[in-house]
Amino acid sequence: MDFNLNWFPGHMAKARRLVKENLKLVDVVIEVLDARIPMSSRNPELKNLAAGKPRLVVLNKSDLADPDLTLRWKKYFLSEGNPAVAVDSVGGSGVREVSELVRQLAAPKMSSLMSSGRRSRSVRCMVLGIPNVGKSFFINKLVGQRAARAGDKPGITRGQQWVRVAGNLELLDTPGILKPGVERPEAAFRLIATGAIKEDLYDLHKAAVVLLKWLVKKYPQALKDRYRLEPLPHEPEIILEEIGSMRGYYQAGGIVDTLKAAQAVLKEFREGTLGRYTMDDPGDIKEFDAF
Ligand code: GDP
Repeated sequence: MDFNLNWFPGHMAKARRLVKENLKLVDVVIEVLDARIPMSSRNPELKNLAAGKPRLVVLNKSDLADPDLTLRWKKYFLSEGNPAVAVDSVGGSGVREVSELVRQLAAPKMSSLMSSGRRSRSVRCMVLGIPNVGKSFFINKLVGQRAARAGDKPGITRGQQWVRVAGNLELLDTPGILKPGVERPEAAFRLIATGAIKEDLYDLHKAAVVLLKWLVKKYPQALKDRYRLEPLPHEPEIILEEIGSMRGYYQAGGIVDTLKAAQAVLKEFREGTLGRYTMDDPGDIKEFDAF
């Protein structure tokens, strides 16, 4: 189960510094998570990095997640003090709710600024999250057509801009990139399964084997239905053989191309062809306690 992922530490150290600088400029933090793995796609450090700032959780890709579990996760985050919104950044659902909640979260700070005699100003926010959770898609949907560059302001890293979002909100147009928590074995596998990790960093065949083990245990029926496996073999290697031969994936010499089958399983799981699944359960939060 251990994937030993190597996550370029140098590159990430620079990203972290940028995040720290940008955090000073904003009133509200929008933490984008993958709704299928809200715990595994979280960077545990953000809590400290953004200490003292109101935080809104975006459960993105909710179109691919189990709706019941998404509701439970919303409750979980709210109980932590962070409201959460289920978003689909491709279809657009949930996006509008985000700007309203950001305004609400900033309201106490805004009214204290006003009562201390400052001029009223827009609420400033930024999007943060690990790679591939859909930060850019989300920003594009949030900003939409009404985007208007708010111009350069001191303190912003070159190349970044504030963009005006519906009403009285300003958003940094570049998201903050956080390091994925790949040192947590459970999280590493789920990040791989959902496609958050570059494919050249792990063994695809092994990833599909671990995913199939998980599916055999959790969703045997979906697996049977999708790949017409009757009876369902318990060994992932055999499942890959069967899928490969059924689909005509052969190498020279008539050997079944199980790597091609592995790629197909991973792709179909990630795109939701196999169904809508959430791999993290708020009931299992203890799994992550150690991190
Ligand atoms: P970033 O690295 O966090 O900026 O991620 P991107 O915005 O580039 O998105 C990564 C991939 O996720 C893209 O291929 C998108 O098509 C996909 N994606 C983003 N948001 C959603 C969503 O809400 N639903 C679905 N199904 N796919 C999404």
